[in-house]
Amino acid sequence: MKTGIFGGTFDPVHIGHVRATEAFVYELALDRLFVLPNCLPPLKDKESASAEDRLAMLKIAFSDMEGVQVDDFELKNGGTSYTYKTIEHYRALFPQDRLFLLIGDDNLLIFRKWVNFDYIIKNCTICVAARSGADITRDTAVLKQKYNADIRVLSYTPTVISSTELRERLTVDLLPVGVYDFIREKGLYR
Ligand code: ATP
Repeated sequence: MKTGIFGGTFDPVHIGHVRATEAFVYELALDRLFVLPNCLPPLKDKESASAEDRLAMLKIAFSDMEGVQVDDFELKNGGTSYTYKTIEHYRALFPQDRLFLLIGDDNLLIFRKWVNFDYIIKNCTICVAARSGADITRDTAVLKQKYNADIRVLSYTPTVISSTELRERLTVDLLPVGVYDFIREKGLYR
């Protein structure tokens, strides 16, 4: 089986995440995909939504997408969420699977700062969504040549949007169907 993993803060999930996910599943021909909101220290930022609400928004956003499961593994673990621990978890659950990790290009540029990034590289194909148009050529080459990383850049047209912009200014068109209403009903990001 080909299993995809996509982690993030998703505060809130937006259409950039959803479109990147669709391209990820399609281009890599994934059999299933796990989407995981990470754990944030409580009350770090009063503008942030709770873990429960971030999870609920993800469930709304991905409710129609076949093969996608929103997983609260990182939330349940508490503390700081480390991607390598999530990869260890799926590696143990699915020892025979090929694992694929989706990250935005901003994260590829800092990937070598991630704890145990070499474990991630050994266990996953890294799939990059070129969200910001950053030049990732050099970092990709270093990761491939020095660490033997398997890196794929998605060939889709990215949607240039961030959760930060949405927290500052909610725009219905940039949120998955149902998420805007959820935010309004709950009075989030005010
Ligand atoms: P923030 O503005 O709060 O930093 P964000 O929009 O970057 O949030 P995250 O939840 O931090 O969202 O992102 C989760 C993952 O999705 C990261 O790997 C990030 O690079 C990627 N990502 C975020 N926005 C996009 C986008 N518009 N297109 C493709 N990938 C994205």
